[in-house]
Amino acid sequence: MSHTIPRAPGRPYLAIPGPSVIPDAVLQAMHRAAPNIYAGELVEMMPGLTADLKRVARTRFHVAMYTGNGHAAWEAALANVIAPGDKVLVPATGRFGIGWGETAKGQGAEVEVIDFGKQSPMDMARIAETLAADKAHEIKAILAVHVDTSTSIRNDIAALRATLDAAGHPALLMADCIASLGCDTFEMDAWGVDVMVTGCQKGLMVPPGMSFVFFNDRAEAARARLPRVSWYWDWSPRAHAQEFFQYHGGTAPTHHLYGLRTALDMIHAEGIEQVWARHAMLARAVWAACEAWSEGGHFAMNVKDAANRSTAVTSLRLQSPDATALRDWVEGQLGLTLGIGLGMALPGDPAWHGFFRLGHMGHVNGHMIMGLLGGIEAGMRGLGIEHGTGALDAAAQVISGS
Ligand SMILES: *Cc1c(COP(=O)(O)O)cnc(C)c1O
Repeated sequence: MSHTIPRAPGRPYLAIPGPSVIPDAVLQAMHRAAPNIYAGELVEMMPGLTADLKRVARTRFHVAMYTGNGHAAWEAALANVIAPGDKVLVPATGRFGIGWGETAKGQGAEVEVIDFGKQSPMDMARIAETLAADKAHEIKAILAVHVDTSTSIRNDIAALRATLDAAGHPALLMADCIASLGCDTFEMDAWGVDVMVTGCQKGLMVPPGMSFVFFNDRAEAARARLPRVSWYWDWSPRAHAQEFFQYHGGTAPTHHLYGLRTALDMIHAEGIEQVWARHAMLARAVWAACEAWSEGGHFAMNVKDAANRSTAVTSLRLQSPDATALRDWVEGQLGLTLGIGLGMALPGDPAWHGFFRLGHMGHVNGHMIMGLLGGIEAGMRGLGIEHGTGALDAAAQVISGS
């Protein structure tokens, strides 16, 4: 349907939870002739690039880069610490937790899933019970998703570390921060995270194609105990590179590195804590609008308690006419693209069309968020969807601090 509507002129706005908006400065940094990969600027850039990546993750430990998306980082992280037959625990709060568990299964792990459903964060008491029951310490790692992008639930990773410590359980704490790094507050070392994976196309604002595995010395010791690690996924040569090619396991993703360099400059110029504060403020504006719309009955936020919400993505439900109609309308009429629902209903099921998501991650500011919310308001009017009033006013109050 949307394909037959002529696209609105003006600058399009992709407001989906990844890939996120690419800053012009990042695009410009990538727009250049192929660089020398043997010597010169690109090679010399690497130590500073890895140091600045670690500053975003708040870790003093190690980072390995992969030319691949977030799914590659999932597999890379597991390949370094999990041998076939090892057990892993997946406390799932959405599609991405389930997906990381499936990846582990594909690599031969025995996977135990605790499914917390699609609207609630992890319950630490249940995880504590599972850990207490594992007297033989068969669970080698917990695969925890910080922000599950399908449900927009944010989990308390520091509380998960406290739960492991209270149980005296040695399992590695592995965190998927693909949707949260550079958006939600995250402290790898202070929170005791052993392995963290992320991609470049969400909070890091670079086109998809690179991903990163951060790991501490505990995780490195676990890596050393494995009989073998497949050559491409092995994080050791990438994190402790002796020559340029080792960082990348072959030819470097040259233009992505330039884009990433600029994105990291932008993040550190703003200050990572300010980046978190900006996301939190803009998210509060989105929630204020969504809560006002929810008064109408057709519209609902997936996560009821603000304490459990991501500041980078918001998962929503809209019925009659459905979210697909709204997405088509705002894309065709306004040049605004909203995210599809993911993991809330099966594709093919009519209920699938009742879900959608907003991305508010990375390169976003107040006028973009007001435009996003104003676009949705216009779409609901255009389609005659009943909704609560005062949404834009509520968002403006948050953004203006009034
Ligand atoms: C986007 C995302 C992934 C998958 O990343 P890809 O780059 O699409 O492979 C995994 N986990 C989370 C939490 C994500 O948001």
